[in-house]
Amino acid sequence: MPDLDRIVQDIAAEMRARPDRGAVASYIPELARVDAQGFGLAVIDGDGRIAAGGDADTPFSIQSISKVFTLTLALGMVGDRLWRRVGREPSGSPFNSIVQLERENGIPRNPFINAGAIAVTDVILSGHQPREALGEILRFMQFVAQDDSITIDERVAASEKRTGFRNAALANYMRSFDVIENPVDYTLGVYFHHCAIAMTCRQLATAGLFLAYSGHHPLAGHSVISGERARRINAIMLTCGHYDGSGDFAYRVGLPGKSGVGGGILAVAPGKASICVWSPGLDAAGNSHLGRIALEMLVKRTGWSIFGV
Ligand code: GLN
Repeated sequence: MPDLDRIVQDIAAEMRARPDRGAVASYIPELARVDAQGFGLAVIDGDGRIAAGGDADTPFSIQSISKVFTLTLALGMVGDRLWRRVGREPSGSPFNSIVQLERENGIPRNPFINAGAIAVTDVILSGHQPREALGEILRFMQFVAQDDSITIDERVAASEKRTGFRNAALANYMRSFDVIENPVDYTLGVYFHHCAIAMTCRQLATAGLFLAYSGHHPLAGHSVISGERARRINAIMLTCGHYDGSGDFAYRVGLPGKSGVGGGILAVAPGKASICVWSPGLDAAGNSHLGRIALEMLVKRTGWSIFGV
């Protein structure tokens, strides 16, 4: 077993000192206020042993990382029927691309680009009031993170609602194909709010454990989903979790991972650990710049890449 405490401390120290930090997301005004100096890393294994470094206990906006958990919930609700409304191929396009949606008749490429995640949110919303659907998502996050104190940052949600014109365009376009069934405002409201959930690296790493252990959550003591479903979600994280940077992330890190524009990345080392890293500066594809570099270092030292040592 690698000396995780040592490795995590070394990485946190090195990342703190690096001058290249990427650029904080500015299209959501509330996220533009976040200090680019933050860096946190948490690694948790199936026995609940945790190695944490830097700002691992600072809450940040989980943004698109929430899409892993909404996908899990939607699959639980409608099973494979979900794939009638959203594909599961990498997009090769930016996370908020509009042009691909027109070419493909309103069916988003995968559940992790914005259009796909909005369609998934719409599935969770159907038959419920927005407040109930959001409550369901938040309670699920609290359960898998084993922490009832997790909340939504209402300022981030409001900020995105005020400026989310592109997401509104995607949602309206999908509505015209009946890929979205509910009033667009309701679906977007739930989507913006689940993206605005605030969590720490420690909480998110804990939340990802069921994906690292074949659907079984070792700390909750029972299964969240089947092993087959966990394996499939991990596959979509690997191929689509970093948008048009997914190939590069697989090449450099070699773990299923999901990024968010808040600067977080959740990564899954099957059978080994669940990992969350946070650094708010992003690269050109909207993925955490230092987050990816830190994971690359972690995988090099642990030999955890799914592609071999
Ligand atoms: N809430 C963000 C958006 O819809 C999520 C994008 C992301 O994290 N990549 O634009």
